Amino acid sequence: MNERVVIIGSGLGGLECGTILARAGMNVSVLEKEPQLGGCLQTFRRGGLTFDTGFHYVGGLGECESLRPLFDYFGLMNLPWKQLDTDCFDEVRIGDRRFAFAQGHERFVETLAASFPHQREHLKNYTEMLRQVGLHIWDSLDPRDMDDFYGSSLFARSAYAWLEETITDPLLRRVLSGTSLKLELDRERLPLYVFAQINNSFIQSAWRLSGGGAQIANRLAEQIEQNGGLIRTRAEVTELIERDGKIAEVVINGEEHLPCDYVISDAHPALTLSLVKESAVLRGVYRKRIERLRNSIGMFTVNIRLKKDVLPYRNSNLYLHRDDADLWNVRTDRVESVLVHFYPPEEGCYAEGIDLLTPLRKTDLPDWEHDQPGHRGAAYEAFKQQKAEETIRFVAQHWPELEDAIDRVWTSTPLTYEHYTGTKDGSAFGVMKDWQSPMTTVLSPRTPIQNLLLTGQSLNLHGILGTSMTSLFTSAELLGKETIKQELKL
Ligand SMILES: Cc1cc2nc3c(=O)[nH]c(=O)nc-3n(C[C@H](O)[C@H](O)[C@H](O)COP(=O)(O)OP(=O)(O)OC[C@H]3O[C@@H](n4cnc5c(N)ncnc54)[C@H](O)[C@@H]3O)c2cc1C
Repeated sequence: MNERVVIIGSGLGGLECGTILARAGMNVSVLEKEPQLGGCLQTFRRGGLTFDTGFHYVGGLGECESLRPLFDYFGLMNLPWKQLDTDCFDEVRIGDRRFAFAQGHERFVETLAASFPHQREHLKNYTEMLRQVGLHIWDSLDPRDMDDFYGSSLFARSAYAWLEETITDPLLRRVLSGTSLKLELDRERLPLYVFAQINNSFIQSAWRLSGGGAQIANRLAEQIEQNGGLIRTRAEVTELIERDGKIAEVVINGEEHLPCDYVISDAHPALTLSLVKESAVLRGVYRKRIERLRNSIGMFTVNIRLKKDVLPYRNSNLYLHRDDADLWNVRTDRVESVLVHFYPPEEGCYAEGIDLLTPLRKTDLPDWEHDQPGHRGAAYEAFKQQKAEETIRFVAQHWPELEDAIDRVWTSTPLTYEHYTGTKDGSAFGVMKDWQSPMTTVLSPRTPIQNLLLTGQSLNLHGILGTSMTSLFTSAELLGKETIKQELKL
């Protein structure tokens, strides 16, 4: 098997496909436009601390849980994972009311039932449904299930409507929606499958990675190279040249031509199609459909270095919401919801660095969308400073000790994400899936060009779990589903 597979982008999806295919004996080249590998897994150093770009925590790494077989296969389980507090991995605060999310479905129910005793049965139904979705996570790799997967009733059902039917107490519905900053809650669009699969994996078990997400990217890159693959950074794919209905060559940085048998793109699908300038098989209607797909929300991130030995490290996340926030209709004109993430300290029990994440859209930043980083001017800096102050003030209402404990602050917006990860609109989670049109928003790895495949978070499910799932679907297009199932022991 000596097919030349060129992979565009070294995000999680690109590197996982590269690992699977290199291990299967294919001749893999991963081309990354940035100096650093990883896309949303990139880390950066500021003020002596390591901060993450995207990924902050992950679910389902315990024995027999959703992500575990994949991370075993990819050799990622011996990275320094830290399990979050099992009694409370996520704390949701709505106004001044506090609710703990515990790990394990039964404990999850019992913990919340203490505040909502009349909803115990509803909570059981809720978690049972999530558990079932998690249990059947790998069924769709079976070819017989594939058609059903894309037209599946869970992709075609509204998450919001299901929550309304299952949970009768409106406050509990808000609480269960309260860890929403790891997906975009959209009343009109979010499919039940996305809501259930993501929430289920974190209820199974929740983990942080000490030292940052770049370790995942580096571990995968090592395996690609050990299996004869090539990884190149500062190698932007600028064009895909089609001949006789197939991609024949990949153009790197506008000058170098690389022949290929297959291309897998981990870049956003619309960006991928824009690389094919002339095509006999890509119809205008397909291009337009992909170009018009709505992208999910972006994030404004405040990276904070804390003063030494002031605030204790918290082994859980805080999700803070205004009392009157509508969690299913995200507003970005004011700060309504913030995720507080604590980085595991290198030593000791005090927190050294934290991130605050709050939703923001690229459309909130129209004046600077065409400018390069570092050249957006004083007004952009002033906007970021004002937004950071508003975010910190909001968090300090819940956690007054924070303000005096801050040493230094850095910020990023969807424009930063768009520049460094190439994600269209600086979206955090890629293409927004829509239960009203699952057939057009849940994308197949296949494109009309026979040897051009897609992968990455925009296809069917985002996040570390979703992107990893998708890398199997894409690799199965080349190796066959049964081979993938056997290799990964699914
Ligand atoms: C702020 C934020 C917080 C998040 N938090 C979490 C979390 O806590 N848990 C979780 O599970 N998930 C989280 N996610 C989501 C998760 O990080 C992503 O779903 C996942 O990492 C996406 O991987 P990917 O491979 O699809 O794409 P990406 O990471 O976007 O990678 C795409 C890569 O392609 C490269 N590229 C693009 N165009 C070209 C080109 N023309 N030539 C060469 N290279 C190119 C880019 O530079 C990039 O490296 C978060 C995301 C964000 C933004």
